[in-house]
Amino acid sequence: MKYKRILLKLSGESLMGEKKYGIDPAILQQYADEIKKVKGMGVEIAIVIGGGNIFRGVQAEKSGIDRVQGDYMGMLATLINAMALQSALEQNGMYTRLMSGIKIESVCEPFIRRRAIRHLEKGRIVIFGAGIGNPYFTTDSTAALRAIEIESDVVLKGTRVDGVYTADPEKDATATKYQNISFDEVYKKNLNVMDMTAFTLCQENNLPIIVFDMNKEDNLFKLVQGETIGTLITA
Ligand code: UDP
Repeated sequence: MKYKRILLKLSGESLMGEKKYGIDPAILQQYADEIKKVKGMGVEIAIVIGGGNIFRGVQAEKSGIDRVQGDYMGMLATLINAMALQSALEQNGMYTRLMSGIKIESVCEPFIRRRAIRHLEKGRIVIFGAGIGNPYFTTDSTAALRAIEIESDVVLKGTRVDGVYTADPEKDATATKYQNISFDEVYKKNLNVMDMTAFTLCQENNLPIIVFDMNKEDNLFKLVQGETIGTLITA
């Protein structure tokens, strides 16, 4: 296998599946199946999941809720998803730990870097909920930061699109996909990979990113084995 320790970023939105809101149990099961396949290879797995299917901080402002308050609500939304994912993984026979950026002691552990690494070494899947624990950040930034902290080999950004394109493939039919691209080129071409905070963190710490379609069966498995799936972004 190509990667020994991975950080998988899943969007909250993808958890909705065909639904307009919330969590689709079929998607949860699908993710558990895909994650179990890589777990079986002996890969150490950390996961960050978003909250966009439930709540986003920016959306709060429109409804008269203070931005910072909205961001905390968004962080709690990610925790709900993280708990659902934890449960799905456990029901499928995996050992997990949920670590939160905000202290919620009856539900999960606080994030402690050394402890997170220890869990991974013991073969537990570690899910990071509640983002970084600070407003004005996203779960992409959380993924980048935690990946660096736990010395992950790569950030795997699972999306609906199967990589980074020259233009938005959902809008522009002539858009083509990159197999490899450098951090600098992504900047220059103003391509949308992650938000800039997250992207800069990865670049400055030389942490490769792979953008791939998490909804395609075996993609995660193939990727970890070293097959060219999605788009690889490196220095
Ligand atoms: N959030 C935050 N700090 C963090 C992580 C998340 O304030 O460290 C809030 C922010 O309001 C964000 C929301 O949580 O809009 C949900 O996360 P995100 O939008 O990244 O989820 P995704 O789009 O991946 O589903």
